[in-house]
Amino acid sequence: MVETNGRHAPANEAMPVIFLAHGSPFLLDDEGWVGELSRWAKALQRPKSVLMVSAHWEQKPVTVGAVRTAPLIYDFWGFPEKYYGVTYPAPGAPALAERVRELLGPSQPVADEPERGLDHGAYVPLVAMYPNADVPVLQVSLPTMDAPTLFELGRALAPLRDEGVLIVGSGFLTHNLRAWDRRPNPATPTWAAEFDAWAGDVLKRQDVDALLDYRRRAPGVQQALPTHEHFVPVAVALGAAVGKPGPVTFPITGFYGGSMTKRSVQFG
Ligand code: ZN
Repeated sequence: MVETNGRHAPANEAMPVIFLAHGSPFLLDDEGWVGELSRWAKALQRPKSVLMVSAHWEQKPVTVGAVRTAPLIYDFWGFPEKYYGVTYPAPGAPALAERVRELLGPSQPVADEPERGLDHGAYVPLVAMYPNADVPVLQVSLPTMDAPTLFELGRALAPLRDEGVLIVGSGFLTHNLRAWDRRPNPATPTWAAEFDAWAGDVLKRQDVDALLDYRRRAPGVQQALPTHEHFVPVAVALGAAVGKPGPVTFPITGFYGGSMTKRSVQFG
């Protein structure tokens, strides 16, 4: 038996895989959203480490970030000063980095960037989920925007689930910053609602063919995703999920800024 947050789980129970909507640095002022992420983390088995794939690190080939605690990357501009003072000194995860190289190395080159800390797509949700920064974290890059390739990346990483690793895809299923409505209680445009409903259905059924073909099949995709980096981390998560049957749940739903869906997914 392993110690968990409030419950015991058999040592051989695979970790779930999650995809989460990460918000901007403002998320940490949103008590409701912080509470949702915090409750989600408490309901999960406590991971030995977190493997993070964020929308905000595109680098080819797949690259392993810092394996020791490194300064955060404040990869956002024009925010009030306090957002550049957030710290998150989580331990590094060198053993996990070694496992990632073992799992991916036979099929592709793997690079290292030992000075690269966590970007805001990685640390913002972790501040809410594991505020004590006591879970080791490793970030790896998105080597491509091609969803089928990222799905295969997730499949290759799936054995880590049996080793206590929480694989996290971090992005937004819809992400059009021009449509960001900063008024209180903004309305959700039809295209965003339709895209979100489509994604929820496809993910619930784990319809791999449909999800990976989202650029052609999803309603409203051109408005929902002028660029693709925020969506494609979900392909990594789905790839890590499909080999093991388990429930698909949406611990967080709703919209931020009118059109950005907070829909976050747990597989297993
Ligand atoms: Zn982002």
